Amino acid sequence: MASFTHQFDTPVYKGSASIDTRLFIDGKFVDPVEGGSIEVVNPTNGKIITSVAAGTSKDVDIAVQAARKAYKTSWGLRVPGKARGQILNKIADLIEKHGDELAALECLNTGKIYTFTHFRDIPIAVETFRYYAGWADKIHGQTIETDENKLAYTRHEPYGVVAQIVPWNFPLVCLAAKVAPALATGNVIVFKPSEVTPLTALKFASFLNEAGVPPGVVNVINGYGHTVGQAFSSHPQIEKLAFTGSTLTGRKILEASARTNLKDVTLELGGKSPNIIFDDCDLEQAVKWSTMGIFFNMGQVCIAGSRIFVQEGVYERFVGAFQAAAKGFGQAAGDPFAPQSQHGPQVSKSHFERIMSYIDSGKQEGATVLAGGQQHGDTGYYIEPTLFTDVTPEMKIAREEIFGPVAVIIKFKDEAEVIEMANDTSYGLACGVFTENTSRALRVIHALEAGSAFVNCYSTIEVSVPFGGHKQSGIGKESGEAALATYTQVKAVHVNIGMRL
Ligand code: NAD
Repeated sequence: MASFTHQFDTPVYKGSASIDTRLFIDGKFVDPVEGGSIEVVNPTNGKIITSVAAGTSKDVDIAVQAARKAYKTSWGLRVPGKARGQILNKIADLIEKHGDELAALECLNTGKIYTFTHFRDIPIAVETFRYYAGWADKIHGQTIETDENKLAYTRHEPYGVVAQIVPWNFPLVCLAAKVAPALATGNVIVFKPSEVTPLTALKFASFLNEAGVPPGVVNVINGYGHTVGQAFSSHPQIEKLAFTGSTLTGRKILEASARTNLKDVTLELGGKSPNIIFDDCDLEQAVKWSTMGIFFNMGQVCIAGSRIFVQEGVYERFVGAFQAAAKGFGQAAGDPFAPQSQHGPQVSKSHFERIMSYIDSGKQEGATVLAGGQQHGDTGYYIEPTLFTDVTPEMKIAREEIFGPVAVIIKFKDEAEVIEMANDTSYGLACGVFTENTSRALRVIHALEAGSAFVNCYSTIEVSVPFGGHKQSGIGKESGEAALATYTQVKAVHVNIGMRL
């Protein structure tokens, strides 16, 4: 069980993809100490694609020791920023070169639409490595004027061993958002992909030696959250942990970190983001953006605009157009490798069941289903894009993160009322406002409690712009220049150049 090769013969990709399915530690693929494995499932049909090795805390410890050694001998600030940047650019080149294969593996494993993955996810991963390659030789501290007998300055130093844990919805994009800035700033990494979607992380690991990343600098350890993930959060020699996933898991990680060595923790968590449509919006555009805002990637997007608030003057027209758009999305459901498909399966059986139970709860609580509401077909984990109206703010479907293709629409009267309703959530990841009145747009956006805000667009995130949630949607920022601070700690240096006692 050391390798896996798949021959793709699809309309959008013909060719093979192969990976080593073991753990990648200290520059080599190795078997796990305790020999476990995890089955990887194709969500379009529920069939097993392959099995990958499952690590445990023993493998984590071996990887941490390899990373510590690499940090002391062949990475960290020992390697000039310019050289680190060159290596990041080589990683970007290799992702680009293998883009078709990576996109195919990602789709096979997640059920994501190939064309979206190929033209969006892969270029974002490449761009992320290139973006942070550019930053690697621009990590600056400050000199601070105190008095003329003293020089005070700051250094932005790496943490050393950084652990990174990602979810299954954008496996390669999340990997890039974490690995690139951590390497650019001189850290060494132990990385855990989701147990549901490990394939592209393993393919990525196979590029590292060729890119010139010294052994031990990046280690990829497949495994479950309660074993490998838990071992990361409670390891005393990991100084920093960056996590993307659910709020529930984020809380466990923070608790485990607090109990062991108080490691610095960055959390990118869940959301239930409001998307507000005012009477004076460009309706056609608002419908298009809002449809993509919730149904893109089968609703498995952390910033999905899942609570759509529509002002009463435009309510009927918006709902009619959105209903048609949702049904249109549903008609484009199908094989992720077919060029016309826009909607694939949910990532796993358990996630499919979780979403279906939310849909049932919406029906039971008295909301009206205007589109979808059922499994699509009878094979795999497809769910029809679903629209609920007659939703009240206290319903479960209006309060909890569903992380699926389920939109709820709620009517509102005025600005004050909608701000109150939009902020009535423990989450604070993203928000959107559609209006042609710029003053209103800015006034409302500034009043909403969220880390990313979109005006007359939705989900248009950028590698160069900081990203991260407010409230229980997260702690800290990724992307943009902000990620440099996430992966460095400031040392203040005080030098006596003339003070006498
Ligand atoms: P999850 O929290 O179940 O799992 C995420 C990762 O954490 C996986 O790799 C899992 O193995 C690991 N994990 C699970 N238990 C753990 C533990 N006790 N200790 C350490 N690690 C553990 O989330 P998921 O179902 O994979 O992903 C969906 C969630 O991710 C949603 O809530 C979504 O909003 C969130 N998400 C957030 C962002 C963001 O940037 N804010 C991006 C994508 C997804």
